[in-house]
Amino acid sequence: MTVCARCREKAIFQTLKGPLCRKHFSEWYERGVVATVEKYGMISPRERICVGFSGGKDSTVLLAVLAKRNFDAELIAVTVDEGIRGYRDDTIEAAKITAKNLDVEHHIISFRDVAGGTLDELLAPAPNRACSVCGTLRRHALNTVARKLDVDKIATGHCLDDEAQSVVMNYLRGDITRITSSFNSNSAGLFIPRIKPLFRSTERATVSYGLANRLLTPLPECSYTRFALRKDVRTFLGKCEHSTPGTLLRIVEGQERLTAMLPKPNGMLINLHPCENCGEPTANRLCAACQHLEFLLH
Ligand code: SF4
Repeated sequence: MTVCARCREKAIFQTLKGPLCRKHFSEWYERGVVATVEKYGMISPRERICVGFSGGKDSTVLLAVLAKRNFDAELIAVTVDEGIRGYRDDTIEAAKITAKNLDVEHHIISFRDVAGGTLDELLAPAPNRACSVCGTLRRHALNTVARKLDVDKIATGHCLDDEAQSVVMNYLRGDITRITSSFNSNSAGLFIPRIKPLFRSTERATVSYGLANRLLTPLPECSYTRFALRKDVRTFLGKCEHSTPGTLLRIVEGQERLTAMLPKPNGMLINLHPCENCGEPTANRLCAACQHLEFLLH
């Protein structure tokens, strides 16, 4: 049996500095999140923080750690119900239970409320666009409810793996706008600032924390995952991280250094104006969410 480097209890997680038991691993994980929040000045006292809370593993751990570590902020959990048959009902039930256990105010907003139909209904003409449509409409829904709730920031459960995958996907798509703006896209003050307290924590550590603290229950996988480019990138980067530990962190830190070298303010943000349809800031006639809806509904 591998034992904890600090107390000789049974180890459950191997860090770079040695194996840790449940108690010491949990403390180590939480300290890492707190250090990230403090280093990047993510949360100030008495701020109202809207936590994008899908009920999945990352956002569940995010909500639990923010609630436990008490940053003197007011937490409001918001779950977006995309309307995905065989997937969303279970995760929403899990989200309700977790929010209740953590005693956090919880709101649920559905695609039907903000887009006029469930994701399944909207995607009927183009199922292969699932993740693009889903991600854009989910951000739109979260922004809409966050404005109504008058919050200061939106926190999302993106972990290190998600961030590294996004960097690589932006290159694979040749998406120069996102490559050059991903770390300073809130600077114009037009959007509710987004924070990602887990973005220095690996998915493996995040899931281990969730399991060690009995926060997670087995949930089904979204049926549209098969269309996701992210799935291939995740598999590839997972192999790289396994054979060369630290790969994910180097990708994210490389992107941070690149962004820091770019001139500010970012040119992409200079000509933003309200979307003709919904009023959200956009560089085009319609914001990305309304462009998707125009394509899918007409
Ligand atoms: Fe949405 Fe794609 Fe994730 Fe399914 S896999 S929840 S469609 S982003």
